[in-house]
Amino acid sequence: MRCQAGRGQAGHAGKKGGLDAAIAEEIEAEVERLIGAGVVDDFQAIETEARRVALRIMGQAVAHRLNADRSDDRGPWLSCACGGEARFAGRRPKTFTTAPGPLTLDRAWYRCDSCHTGFSPRDRALGMENTFLSPAALRMIGIAAARTGFEGSSALLRELAGLAVAPKTVERHAEALGREIAGDECRVRSSDRSTVRTASFCPSVRPSRSRCARISRRRPENASRNRRS
Ligand SMILES: [Zn+2]
Repeated sequence: MRCQAGRGQAGHAGKKGGLDAAIAEEIEAEVERLIGAGVVDDFQAIETEARRVALRIMGQAVAHRLNADRSDDRGPWLSCACGGEARFAGRRPKTFTTAPGPLTLDRAWYRCDSCHTGFSPRDRALGMENTFLSPAALRMIGIAAARTGFEGSSALLRELAGLAVAPKTVERHAEALGREIAGDECRVRSSDRSTVRTASFCPSVRPSRSRCARISRRRPENASRNRRS
């Protein structure tokens, strides 16, 4: 991974070297700030803070890399899901909750005058369309919510992963995940009664056969999501 220098990519390697040096310098400064010249008498505080700083620095590097890549600008027009043509409407920042922490991404934005909605090709590519949660953050919420209550999940995620999500956010997304899995289970049931997948993310919304009927009549999840950017 580090052996590209001297192979015709001096500019790229130079930038990478600069970034590596800047990250190393920031880490050294943070370690010095954490430990300093004093006696270490609270190692738990140091290791907790070290994790927070490491995640923040990695998050900054990921955001820097993604924001430097403007290939999500696909030109002045792009096909919309409604069948219309969406026009390029500039770049829009949006802050996402991700595993390393909050990341603000600068994304190309397209606006469709036919269905009056907008979309970001990058959000779609990253699996973060119509949400402010990254895939890893959403997975962590689902795992925590399957094992404890929404309040407990919020506290657990903050304590173990440094992830700041309110209990209401846990509730909303855990239930959405449960509905998706429940709908999936219903589809499997209707296509093959011998194979039933388990909705393990949120047992409280695991479907009964009567709920399957209600779920099948419900509008797709994306229909309500598309009103939000
Ligand atoms: Zn449209």
